[in-house]
Amino acid sequence: MQVPVIQQILKANDQIAAENEKTFRAAGVHVVNVMASPGAGKTSLILQVLDRLPGLPVRLGAGVIEGDIASSIDADLIAAHGVPVVQINTGGNCHLDAPMIRSALDHLPLDNIDLLFIENVGNLICPANYRLGADLNLVIASVPEGHDKPYKYPGMFASADLVVLNKYDLAEVFEFDDAAFDRGVRMVNPTVPIHRVSARTGEGVEAWLSGLLQQLALQPA
Ligand code: MG
Ligand code: ZN
Repeated sequence: MQVPVIQQILKANDQIAAENEKTFRAAGVHVVNVMASPGAGKTSLILQVLDRLPGLPVRLGAGVIEGDIASSIDADLIAAHGVPVVQINTGGNCHLDAPMIRSALDHLPLDNIDLLFIENVGNLICPANYRLGADLNLVIASVPEGHDKPYKYPGMFASADLVVLNKYDLAEVFEFDDAAFDRGVRMVNPTVPIHRVSARTGEGVEAWLSGLLQQLALQPA
């Protein structure tokens, strides 16, 4: 029987993802794979976290891997916060894969990093299929995208360990149907925590960050 090429690619990817995971564990790095559609607020929410880390009772060093099809706009924003950042330009590829992460690791001071965000390429489809070696999949949806996203992209929401609904300050304007959104998430992922936040106003960010750090065992429950 012939194994389809896509399955062979995914298997090779998973092997390297497992190696990445070993490297992260050995260095004590907790890794979040951030996935969302373009414009949902991945970079804005990462920046919100970076701003809050110095105020936490635990001292946590941060790092970021920025995946983009092109440009270094987001990586420049992160670097301006004094946080080590590696830019991966996928050259048109619509997702990050484990080998890309492995090659980025040589350029990060892993020993000084406790919390590493990997900002995946903005896309709600294939990033969910490529393991990177992360501890946690964070899926960000945003109010203007509509409450039907979990129904249209069930694979992405099924892969989530944590869901954030961003731009919640606009919920009324967009007549966002909260119950429909939650139902859609619960259909494919019955127990995943769902946080409502606004990266613009900062509302809900603290509670979400606290939940995230607890899930990563970086903060007591
Ligand atoms: Mg971004
Ligand atoms: Zn892709």
